Amino acid sequence: MSGAALEVRGLTTRFETRGGMVTAVNDVSFSVQPGRIMGLVGESGSGKSVTGFSILGLIDKPGEISGGEVLIDGEDLRRMTPDALRRMRGRRVSMVFQDPMMTLNPVLRVGDQMAMAVRVHDRVSKRAAWERARAALETVGIPAPAERLRAYPHQLSGGMRQRVAIATALLHRPSVIIADEPTTALDVSIQGQILAEVRRLADETGTAIVWVTHDLAVVSSLADDICVMYAGRIVESGTAEAVIGAPRHPYTRGLIDSVPSLHPPGQPLPQIPGATPQLSHLPAGCPFRPRCPKASDLCRTDPPRFGRDHPVLCHHPLTEEPA
Ligand code: SF4
Repeated sequence: MSGAALEVRGLTTRFETRGGMVTAVNDVSFSVQPGRIMGLVGESGSGKSVTGFSILGLIDKPGEISGGEVLIDGEDLRRMTPDALRRMRGRRVSMVFQDPMMTLNPVLRVGDQMAMAVRVHDRVSKRAAWERARAALETVGIPAPAERLRAYPHQLSGGMRQRVAIATALLHRPSVIIADEPTTALDVSIQGQILAEVRRLADETGTAIVWVTHDLAVVSSLADDICVMYAGRIVESGTAEAVIGAPRHPYTRGLIDSVPSLHPPGQPLPQIPGATPQLSHLPAGCPFRPRCPKASDLCRTDPPRFGRDHPVLCHHPLTEEPA
């Protein structure tokens, strides 16, 4: 889609394992417009985090990105030299990890490491870099930011550390941020505050955000668009309103039904039977078939993708919408 901050086309990532080659990300395509938040949702092992890492080219052996394109503002990261890719990371595309200590160095003051992150890409004085770091902390709602800059990470709460990680990702006003389960380990109240800040940041800065999560309740309140992943593939995508309001894939329906906050009180909470399949032992045809209430013999063959604005990968989508 033209004008997209991030466009992913046919991204495929494989890993060599003792059991043979497994495809963790299988022909994944989506785009995110500036200022929009896209929720990439699925259970553990669905391939959503590997997709996030693949976008930034952070896949090491025995893994490999075997195909596809990743365009940031129209430039393909996969065609860049390693040096050009390094310059791109942190400046035009950043990542926020589930554990902020994957970003923060425990033996450096917050201000020193944020200033360093500024000066990796921009030739500015240390004082100017500290000022930019202070402004970034202010942007993510950290009180007394000048004081926090002098703190070490262990002197901050978990929620505060995650805000610092988000502020660090924002230092260069990137076009795209990939956030991998960044609020999963936080209290619900802190999670709510961070989600509100992220929504505001996307609106104010125009940064496109990919929010990787297993938590459909989080994306239902945060995301503009949703892609649902299962066994390495996107099985349903569309606006959050369409996907949550009228899910077309039986897996999405099962996910929604099993979210307590989206379920009528006082009624038993349904569950999706079984577990996520091992990628090395996928059933023939649709990988959701052993768990699907709508499975038929036809589902032993690869499902087609139906629909344009709200596509679904299924032989028997839940509505009558034509292909
Ligand atoms: Fe279920 Fe068949 Fe659709 Fe797969 S293709 S989700 S098994 S109905």
